[in-house]
Order: sequence, then C-alpha cells, then structure tokens
Amino acid sequence: MSTNERAIRALKEILQKPGNDVCADCGALDPGWGSCSLGVFICLDCSGIHRNIPEICKVKSLRLSHWEDQEVQFMAENGNKLMKAKYEADVPVYYYKPTHKDCQVLREQWIRAKYERKEFSKPGKSLTYESEAREGTLMKRGRDNGQFLSRRFVLSEREGNLKYYTKYDAKEPKAVIKVDTINATFQPEKIGNPNGLQITYLKDYSTRNIFVYHENGKEIVDWFNSIRAVQLQYLRVAFPGATDAELVPKLTRNFIKEGYMEKTGPRQTEGFKKRWFTLDQRRLMYFKDPLDAFAKGEVFLGNNDNHYSASAGLPPGTHCNGAWQYGITIETPDRSFLFTCETESDQQDWLKHFKNVMNTQMSPQDYTMEALLRHRH
Ligand SMILES: [Zn+2]
Repeated sequence: MSTNERAIRALKEILQKPGNDVCADCGALDPGWGSCSLGVFICLDCSGIHRNIPEICKVKSLRLSHWEDQEVQFMAENGNKLMKAKYEADVPVYYYKPTHKDCQVLREQWIRAKYERKEFSKPGKSLTYESEAREGTLMKRGRDNGQFLSRRFVLSEREGNLKYYTKYDAKEPKAVIKVDTINATFQPEKIGNPNGLQITYLKDYSTRNIFVYHENGKEIVDWFNSIRAVQLQYLRVAFPGATDAELVPKLTRNFIKEGYMEKTGPRQTEGFKKRWFTLDQRRLMYFKDPLDAFAKGEVFLGNNDNHYSASAGLPPGTHCNGAWQYGITIETPDRSFLFTCETESDQQDWLKHFKNVMNTQMSPQDYTMEALLRHRH
C-alpha cells in the first residue's frame, strides 16, 4: 500500500466523525475537499473560494491530492465541529449564514468573514453591521431608464428605516423605507451584477423594488446584514414576548420561486398576458418585467380552511388565447386567478409551492397582510 493510499484511507475514517459529513462553510453533503491550513472539510465550490484567499489557501482533494502524514494528523485533530466552535463562536443571531444554493458573493464573504477577517472568533470585535446607523453610496438602478447611478443610502436603527437620496447633499430623501416592510435578496443574474441586491418593500400598500449593488463584495454583504440587524431590533420591540428563534425567519428571506407565467384578468376577456411572477411567502406578485420598480398586482395566498385553493388546469370553457397551455387555477374568497405555464414541470413546481403555502397556518401578521391586499386587485 502506497503512502497516499494509506492517507486517503485515514481521511475517509476522519470523514466519519460528526460534523465532517457536510461542507464546513455551506452545508453541502459529502465534502470532497479539505483545507489543511484550517482543518476543515469543504465542498468543491467552497474550495474554489478558499483558493482565492492566499491567507487560507491550502486546499486539497480528498481523493486525488497527495497528503502528508502530518496533514492527515492535523485534519484528525481539528475537523468541522471543532473549527465551527472556533470560527463561528460569536456569529450574531441575525447574520445570514449562506447555504450551497446561495450566490457566490454571499458564500465568499461568509468564508472571508470567518477565516480571513475572523469577525466571529475575536471576542469584543465591533461589527460594522451592528452600529446604530449606516451610511454610504450604492449603485442604484434608475426606475425607468435602467441606468445605474451612485446614490447615498442611510440606514437608521433609531428611526427604523432605510432612506436614499438622489443628490449626495440633498436634504430630503427620495424615499423613506420602513425596515419592517423590507425584504432584501441577492439577485446577481437578474440584476446583471455579481453583487446585485434586490430590495422589495411596501409603500402606500403597493410593492416596490429597487436594485442596487456595490463594487465591493464585503460592502454589499455588510449592508445586507445591517438591514437584518436593524430589522431584528425593530421586531424585538414590536413583539416583546417573541424569542429570537421566532423572529429570525421574519428577517430578509429568499423568494420561494420566480419566473414567467401567463395570466388573465378577472373577466378573462382581455386574454392571457405573459408576466414575471415572484412568490415571497404568501405574496404572489407579478411584474411586466423582472426589473420593474412596481408590481402590477399581487395575489395573497391564504389558508385552505379560508377558501383558498390551487389546482392544475383551467375551468371548462376558458378561452385559451395565450401561447402556453399548462394551466393553474387559484381560488381565493374573492375571485379565481387563471395562469398558464410553458412546461408541465414548471406548472407542477408552481403548484407544489402554492399548495405548500396554503397548507401552512396563517399568523396574526398574515391576517393583517391579507386585509391590506384584499381590497385591491
Ligand atoms: Zn461548500
């Protein structure tokens, strides 16, 4: 048996230890790589990020690389569980921990925050996203022309809002966004920038979108976590009895599903029109274009017990003048909504998510949202 076969066999055994069965950084199953400078097991994608950080770059394949005996020993003595206790000792409860499905900038900044900047392992370190106010410039997409321009943004914990200004020295903000109405989610592909962040919020009972980015990955992820920090602080005051575990899912969240469907209006005479749909918790919003500033409308998805349902197909006699044929009917207490999907798999996927949402019990805030949205379609 060659020395390397022996090393690979030893590594396989170390992988059996609790914690080593998933990537230390993103939680993906069966990590195929190891960092012999940090003593953690990681997935292929995360190993690529580690390679870009010279300070921590010693990564090796568990199957193909040559491992020295002392490196194997080091992996055995450390491992994911121990290193998590070290590098994630003080992660704030609101701080977003990315999964394998998240975009590059979130995963890269998580890895850099942990191992390069050691933000969570040095006790007493003051975190930028924990200051009471944050101010700086972000590139913001123009509402109508699609051009990105530098804008000043101010996030205030005391006021519980995010403001932005069109002129740097302007006295009056262009918009004042209450933090409890914000959802922020990274959308690099949609926005066309690797650091692209979508901020969706409610203004006068209607949904608005702004699209921003910062050249620097750390900056935009810091903004994102600052928003989450301020949101948590706001919710702690608004819901004094609630635990952090109950409040954290109410901070920014990824959309459940996005994509094109066709939709018809209430009288179904104007025909099916292609729209961009976004499902965010119980809100199904639709837009003419994915980068629109305003939702054209939205459908609240309540609970089965309250006369909400979703099913495949369209009612008999529906005049199908659209391009697509895989129908979905959503019934609400007020009206039916008819949609068509391009493919059967898309139809099944939307249906699965609609049914999941409708099977979930509504919270008191959901009832408030239902009342808000019901009066307008
Ligand atoms: Zn990973």
